[in-house]
Amino acid sequence: MREVLDNGIDELNSFVSGGKFSISKAYRIMQPTWPKVPWKQLVLLKGLVPKHQFILLLAIQRRLATADRQKWGIQAAKECVLCETDAVETIDHLFFQCSHSQFIWKILLSWMGLNKPIGSWEDEVAWMAQRTTRRNPLYTALGITFAATVYHTWIERNTRRFQQQKRPKEEQVREIVLMLHTIGQNCK
Ligand SMILES: [Zn+2]
Repeated sequence: MREVLDNGIDELNSFVSGGKFSISKAYRIMQPTWPKVPWKQLVLLKGLVPKHQFILLLAIQRRLATADRQKWGIQAAKECVLCETDAVETIDHLFFQCSHSQFIWKILLSWMGLNKPIGSWEDEVAWMAQRTTRRNPLYTALGITFAATVYHTWIERNTRRFQQQKRPKEEQVREIVLMLHTIGQNCK
């Protein structure tokens, strides 16, 4: 169980040097050959919160320990704890087939003036990657929001699975919006 609770965290610690998280060090370890990936600029976007950046990187690489991967034994329920349906928890379900995370991402997108249908995980990453190749404050904010959505979805999933605590999706939206305002303030 401990291994599960620490999922991501141990891995995260190994990329911290001198108390500072280094995403480029994480890259070198995780992708030593560093192929040209279309989402490179998305993950390296300036202004990303390091822990969000890290979870985003794991999600894109499908390295998050979702229930379908059964890292912690066969007893664990495979159903998604966010939408509480029979849907099996996979990366593709969590991002964003799941009604819980889809709600959050859709609200945040429309909050930023972008109304579009939510596609598959691959589609959303590709859509984001296209935009973060350009230096544009809106797209930078969009990238930060995307990483925050992925991070908060994963954390809520962990909290529900391992601490049996639940927060409504509206509260998560508020938390992300608040965080974005704080980042905006700090950038001024
Ligand atoms: Zn779900």
